[in-house]
Amino acid sequence: MFNRNLKIAVQKAGRLSEATVELLKKCDIGFDNGHGKLRSLAFNFPLEMLFLRDDDIPQYVEDGVADCGIVGENVLAEAESDLMIVERLGFGRCRLSIAVPRGFRYRNIENLAGKRIATSYPLLLGRFLKERGVFADVHTISGSVEIAPGVGLSDAICDLVSSGSTLFTNGLEEVETVMNSEAVLVVRSDLSRPLKKIFESLTFRIKAVSEARKNKYILLNAPNERLGEIRNLIPGMKSPTVMPLAQEGWSSIHSVIADDDHWPVVEKLKASGAEGILVISIDQMIR
Ligand code: ATP
Ligand code: ZN
Repeated sequence: MFNRNLKIAVQKAGRLSEATVELLKKCDIGFDNGHGKLRSLAFNFPLEMLFLRDDDIPQYVEDGVADCGIVGENVLAEAESDLMIVERLGFGRCRLSIAVPRGFRYRNIENLAGKRIATSYPLLLGRFLKERGVFADVHTISGSVEIAPGVGLSDAICDLVSSGSTLFTNGLEEVETVMNSEAVLVVRSDLSRPLKKIFESLTFRIKAVSEARKNKYILLNAPNERLGEIRNLIPGMKSPTVMPLAQEGWSSIHSVIADDDHWPVVEKLKASGAEGILVISIDQMIR
């Protein structure tokens, strides 16, 4: 049916790998991602995975070795890639931040003037400092940036942070955010028509999975006299489903609720007289 498979570049081993594989599996795309594999062909979708270092992904997609890819926005930005971001994927969330040793007495960005800052993101850091008129010595290193001040290599660092625990263990304090980042799906702009069709099917599935992740399915029993207020708490996609229970005076309500703050809503539902509340994960959701 298809001339050739769509090739997607994904991180081989690292912070994005597990979530990327999980995302594709949730799209019901089956493949073998056994250790040390460089490529893998899906057995039920015209897709081929190329397992690469994350830094190489933008270039591979730009050069047409891969057709699309999943990579951190930070990597795209540092590579000055103009690949199109099709979907933000909601995992691999982090920020590129400037951090200083705890004793630094940092007040504002001018305190960095003339200081040496170690980073693997010279372009983004350089631009950030330039826009603020600060001249500092940007020192590019490829890894273990967080130990640079401790070993006397730099006065400050600029590195990716998620929880901040690595900074904390290295006696560093975050003082400026250079950029916020998450994993994104990118695509080459000149896909052939057949490849574009496959990419659209893939994107349809990825969007359905991303959307599902942000929501939960909720069902509960409610006394009929409280139905109004309970319905307002869980308006759902269009409106909740309300069905009578066999027991007189009670109904069953089914709806969809945003995952990020569902606990306060569940508490309110309980306080409104709801019983037998079930909160269930959704695999795929198409609005
Ligand atoms: P590779 O071997 O593929 O070059 P890497 O060591 O450069 O891997 P990882 O540390 O695996 O990269 O991070 C991959 C991506 O995960 C980052 O580019 C970033 O988008 C995201 N990420 C999320 N949280 C963090 C974090 N706390 N530190 C570093 N990266 C993070
Ligand atoms: Zn990397």
